[in-house]
Amino acid sequence: MTAIVWIRRSLREYDNTALVEASKKHDEVIPFYVVDDNYFKKASLGYPRVKFWHDALQNFKEKLGGEESKDLVVRKGKPLEELEKIVDEVDADAVYHNRDYTPYSRERDEKIEEGLNVPVKTFKDIVMSEKEEILTNSGTPYKVYTYYSKKWFKKEHRRPQDVEEYEVPDVESDEIPSLKELGFERPEDFEWNWDPSREGAKDRIEAFKDKIWNYDENRDYAWKDSTSKLSPHLKFGTVSIREVFWEAERMKARNPNDDTSGIKTWQEELAWRDFYMQVLWNWPESAERPFLEQYEEIEWRSKEEAKEDWKAFINGKTGYPFVDAGMRQLKKTGWMHNRLRMVVTSFACKDLWLDWKDLHEFFNENFVDAEIASMIGGIQWAYSIGTDAQPYFRVFNPFSQGEDYDPDGEYIRKWVPELEDVPDEHIHRPHEMNKLQQEDCGVEIGEDYPRPIVDHDEKRKTAIERFEEVRDED
Ligand SMILES: Cc1cc2nc3c(=O)[nH]c(=O)nc-3n(C[C@H](O)[C@H](O)[C@H](O)COP(=O)(O)OP(=O)(O)OC[C@H]3O[C@@H](n4cnc5c(N)ncnc54)[C@H](O)[C@@H]3O)c2cc1C
Repeated sequence: MTAIVWIRRSLREYDNTALVEASKKHDEVIPFYVVDDNYFKKASLGYPRVKFWHDALQNFKEKLGGEESKDLVVRKGKPLEELEKIVDEVDADAVYHNRDYTPYSRERDEKIEEGLNVPVKTFKDIVMSEKEEILTNSGTPYKVYTYYSKKWFKKEHRRPQDVEEYEVPDVESDEIPSLKELGFERPEDFEWNWDPSREGAKDRIEAFKDKIWNYDENRDYAWKDSTSKLSPHLKFGTVSIREVFWEAERMKARNPNDDTSGIKTWQEELAWRDFYMQVLWNWPESAERPFLEQYEEIEWRSKEEAKEDWKAFINGKTGYPFVDAGMRQLKKTGWMHNRLRMVVTSFACKDLWLDWKDLHEFFNENFVDAEIASMIGGIQWAYSIGTDAQPYFRVFNPFSQGEDYDPDGEYIRKWVPELEDVPDEHIHRPHEMNKLQQEDCGVEIGEDYPRPIVDHDEKRKTAIERFEEVRDED
């Protein structure tokens, strides 16, 4: 009895639900990966994410191949065609895979289920709770996080599982294409700080163990580096959601007398991840249009229309130091702190009136952890057009966000080095320095660092008016 386990975004053996389940029922199991031509043609991809995926996949293959009679069989092509071929080649009895919830995956997986002439068995793996598992008391999916999360915590959380013994028959595997072959090159000045292997994920968990206790107090301060940075590992499944959840539970159990609110707050973030996955599953159209339909009529400025502002924004040259620091951290490392993701997105919306779809595409190309559900959720939250979103009239002030969350300007100085010597009292509003003060710290505003490209107070007012106009029309 031979099973194919079609691996997609769970790039590990341990606690890979489809693999675990196949190993319980089949002696011969083929972990199988298709480098999907369709996906590479369609998706907005960029170096950071593709590099992480590539190295995680490579590492997974090396790890499995390092064990006697195991391997990850890789093929390049169209998933249905490649699955049909391998099923015929080894006379497989079934195909197993973990479920995914994005519109692209749903369409692909439906075709696979219809197209294959062997049973296809699918499993929940990448989330704790999926689809319609958590519903309101009237039986509808949740649009509001707080109530969802209460139920999420009450639900049973399955423990991670090991695979049983299995053997991989001798089957030819393609080489994993190189990044160059796939058309991706490391951008100039890009700092690669990630270890996309399984060990890399475990190291992240270990490093975070000291920080998790104060996560609730520290997580919003970008300069503190106090979050787990597990997002790309969770995205590509080098570690499972159950492993990280239970690691946190173990810490609580080992220290029963300590204040565990930091751990609870961190686990709430895992619930946010599930929340947005179920939003995308239940309202797949929200990937293309505002969750709050009334805002569909808003006319945003496309990146072509807003050419100069767009350029200043993506290059971190808006004259708003906190915003610029966030955008430069992203450009340089492929990652941005959550507080900054909210601040820059709010700025793109309320201050620059940029089209959220252009921003989505840009983030997709630049985030190492680009994940459609959380990204759409986060963008539509900041644009006040999503589920459980920031109200349209509560507009982040990009100066005071910096003053609150980077009070000494440490984060700004790290990512905007031309402001390195600006004294604390001017670091958030360097354009307010007079000529002498500028000379003193070696930065000429308008030359070395830009003046603010827009007037925040004015833009805030206009944004609120525009939202209200659309609301009044309804
Ligand atoms: C505009 C915007 C875009 C975003 N795009 C993405 C994205 O593409 N991919 C992504 O994984 N997250 C995204 N997020 C959510 C969040 O910013 C990141 O998950 C987080 O910053 C990752 O860092 P971390 O692993 O250190 O998180 P931690 O603070 O350590 O949190 C642990 C894990 O919980 C999950 N998580 C944390 N915050 C959120 C959240 N607000 N929504 C959903 N899940 C969350 C992530 O899986 C994260 O790894 C976005 C947020 C915003 C506001």
